[in-house]
Amino acid sequence: MRGIAHFTSAMILPKATRLTLEQLTEVTGIVTEFGCKIQQIVGAVRTIYAIVGDEREELMINRLEGLDYVDRIDRIQSPFKLMDKRSDLASHRITIGGVTLGEELFVIAGACTIDPKNPNYFYETAAAVKESGANALRGGVWKPRTNPYSFQGDVKSLDILMEASRRTGLPVDTEVMEEAHITLALDAGVHTLQIGARNALNYSLLRAVGKAIAERDTVVLLKRSIHMGPLSEFISAAEYIAAFGNPNVILCPRGTTPTLDGYRNHPDESITPLLKEKTWAPVVVDPSHSVGKATYVQAAALAAVAYGADGLCIEAHVEPTKGIGDDPKQALTPEVLRKTIAQARQLWEIRRK
Ligand code: PEP
Ligand code: MN
Repeated sequence: MRGIAHFTSAMILPKATRLTLEQLTEVTGIVTEFGCKIQQIVGAVRTIYAIVGDEREELMINRLEGLDYVDRIDRIQSPFKLMDKRSDLASHRITIGGVTLGEELFVIAGACTIDPKNPNYFYETAAAVKESGANALRGGVWKPRTNPYSFQGDVKSLDILMEASRRTGLPVDTEVMEEAHITLALDAGVHTLQIGARNALNYSLLRAVGKAIAERDTVVLLKRSIHMGPLSEFISAAEYIAAFGNPNVILCPRGTTPTLDGYRNHPDESITPLLKEKTWAPVVVDPSHSVGKATYVQAAALAAVAYGADGLCIEAHVEPTKGIGDDPKQALTPEVLRKTIAQARQLWEIRRK
């Protein structure tokens, strides 16, 4: 029953962890009479059923509330009903490579851009990332570049990414910019799809990702667009994805439009506690794009943890000066990465107490 969730309205919360097929058929029959559809959202604890359409029909709600296997109908007044902290999904946990976000500081690290001509840099970087204690490996295959003549990425790098994943045993994250990338990445075994800052407001791409991952345990790392203002705009972008049935969306502040000279973007890790007041979604901060220079990344990473981030996404390279994309300016060396992760984990533990 998964389909296009143009407008998610009320949620049906069953008494059991999920409806039986018979119950689902009955519920579907009722909402169909009122021109609505049912969209299943599979949470870690229980499945909830969104009524997609116009939920203002009191008679429909009354009939659903009258069913003995329905616990209640949740009508949260929020533009992001699934991602809202008050949603039944607030107990949902996201797990990547056996590690559940929220249980330890979750660190994604690796190159901005994989160099398809020099795969060994990425293999060595991946080994260093593993050795640094990171939980997942990042590597850009397709790159959104401001300059149309800059290197735009290469599909060959997808093989390099997956080979590095096999060698290290680390799950991988890579950015997708169009539907063809989504299919290629999922078919190759990429576990975390990154939506970049430039595409975080590309609603057709968000819908395409939501649809593609609906039946999988794939996770999406959603960067914050520099054009996003209100926090609800960021969380609603996550809702676009979750509305198709898989709520595994992580929010990633990565700096916003710079208001002063010096940093590439204006560091926005301080929005972490504000996000956490509104949504249950884990927050993984990207300090690398935020400050845009390796020298400042460690401070930005620690600041993010101090603000309550659940994780970090850091660019690193065995030899930054030999890297491509952002790596020459932003990537941490293995030594600094190791130190940054160790300190960030210590701070995370202090914060937890
Ligand atoms: C990246 O992660 O390399 C990247 C391009 O990030 P952003 O979309 O945040 O600019
Ligand atoms: Mn980058």
